[in-house]
Amino acid sequence: MAEQNCIFCQVVVGEIAADVIYTDERAVAFRDINPQAPVHALVIPREHMDSLDDASGRDEGLLGHLLRVAARVANAEGLSESGYRTVINTGAGAGQSVFHLHLHVIGGRPLNWPPG
Ligand code: AMP
Repeated sequence: MAEQNCIFCQVVVGEIAADVIYTDERAVAFRDINPQAPVHALVIPREHMDSLDDASGRDEGLLGHLLRVAARVANAEGLSESGYRTVINTGAGAGQSVFHLHLHVIGGRPLNWPPG
């Protein structure tokens, strides 16, 4: 169910334009509007979920699917050799700014560890 005023729900239905690079019946991937690396994509479920904290047992299949889509996107973007990072920020204190679950797929430059 779409959540009112959720920008990523609006991306899913096409109300907000995005540079979409992958879609299927459960997920959408698009380029981040403020990229932190040469490749920076977001993978989201079509169904609204505020954050990883909202996932229940019945969402396990969906979560696995999102991870597989992240890998597919990363490989399609040419990151299989160099590697890539998938990040899920959960909660404002961890840097979450959009409260529709999303996986960042980041790569194309050296990535430091630990992250800031
Ligand atoms: P987070 O801070 O983990 O919640 O990540 C939210 C991400 O969404 C940020 O990297 C933003 O740059 C990105 N973002 C926000 N609005 C849009 C948009 N309309 N299209 C693409 N990316 C967006």
